[in-house]
Amino acid sequence: MSPDVIVLGAGVTGGAIAWHLARSGAKVALVDAAGPAAAPSASWASAGGLRSQGRHAADQPLTLMAAARWPLLGAELGADLEESFGGHLHLAETEAEIPVIEARIAADLAGGLAIERVEPARIREIAPEITARALLGAYTQGDGQAHPGRVARAFAAAAAREGAALRFGQAARLLPGADGVAGVAFADGSALKAGTTVVAAGAWTEALLAPFGLDLPIRARGLQMLLSDIAPRDLLAPTVTAVGRNLSLKQLRSGAFMMGGRWFARPTGRGLETLPLDAHAAKQWAGAAAILPRLARHRLVHQWAGTEAQSIDGNPFIGRSLPGLYLACGFSNHGFQICPAVGELVARDLATGSEPLLAPFATDRIAPDAARLAAFRAEPILEVA
Ligand SMILES: Cc1cc2nc3c(=O)[nH]c(=O)nc-3n(C[C@H](O)[C@H](O)[C@H](O)COP(=O)(O)OP(=O)(O)OC[C@H]3O[C@@H](n4cnc5c(N)ncnc54)[C@H](O)[C@@H]3O)c2cc1C
Repeated sequence: MSPDVIVLGAGVTGGAIAWHLARSGAKVALVDAAGPAAAPSASWASAGGLRSQGRHAADQPLTLMAAARWPLLGAELGADLEESFGGHLHLAETEAEIPVIEARIAADLAGGLAIERVEPARIREIAPEITARALLGAYTQGDGQAHPGRVARAFAAAAAREGAALRFGQAARLLPGADGVAGVAFADGSALKAGTTVVAAGAWTEALLAPFGLDLPIRARGLQMLLSDIAPRDLLAPTVTAVGRNLSLKQLRSGAFMMGGRWFARPTGRGLETLPLDAHAAKQWAGAAAILPRLARHRLVHQWAGTEAQSIDGNPFIGRSLPGLYLACGFSNHGFQICPAVGELVARDLATGSEPLLAPFATDRIAPDAARLAAFRAEPILEVA
């Protein structure tokens, strides 16, 4: 029997959409070239940070929805997501950075977020191991982290329990219909047809849409992550970021410290695979060690990079496109936290025909500008000389 909806891509976005659709009674097929969270996808590489602070205003309602869902999600999905809720702490280390923290707090309070201004004494209570140089912080107590691979696999498994058909292991292409998209076709010559095909294909979206003459203002970029050896557990509860550093730093359940930030990786030319750049890794580690001095006692044991679609305005594209085609892509390195909300809202949008909270993410919101898009895509990945 044909599905009502095909979801192409089983990362955290596609998985969340498929699960929410299936549990609302829709007949769903979830397809993926590999499976949930396979390399080099963003859901495979992701830092798994659940950060609600410092988001774009359009994102805030989704972030708030998602923040309310995360503490319940493991139980809902029947899975250990390695979730923990040690908060998120954003730091100013110089007087000049203080207004940036103050502006973030004001914007987040206006958006309805529970965010706290924290002075040095309180910073030391929240994160005793971090640098004494921190002058002021913005703290969101309910934030935390989860394991993106576990989350993507749990969404797919829960969708299957609700009756979704999983078809993993073969790349799909979009099947043209009379005036849009009629479903997907696989390399073995088989096809699946449905009234709606949701493309949640991350960095692969550009190539999937090209045959239809669609060129969203997105680009594929690899981002790199570092992992330290194992430290005693519970040294660092919050994820820490800093105004003046390209850094996110957290301690995992294992005790290892994980470092991200917006450090681009090097394309290898093999599909969308990218590899960490040593020059970036050295800066990334040094930035983390400046915030967490005990890192001097640890060593780098693992590094990796995964690829994601970044949009030209930093916000995702979520909504209808051609007839039969619905897009959920361009999450621009902050799509993990909001994935439960995206799943819920897309399912509602497909059921009702309209979801106001998704309006800011309309797929046609940005007027085509070929020169600006070419410059965006040509931006160099090297941030370190
Ligand atoms: C290094 C890194 C760190 C990050 N850290 C954070 C963080 O701390 N917090 C946060 O909120 N966000 C973070 N993000 C962003 C977040 O991880 C992503 O926004 C999110 O994982 C995107 O998920 P997705 O399902 O949309 O895409 P992806 O996970 O990339 O999944 C796309 C899927 O589509 C499949 N696919 C593609 N083409 C085809 C095809 N032709 N046929 C079949 N299947 C296909 C792929 O196999 C893949 O499984 C980070 C991202 C990166 C890269």
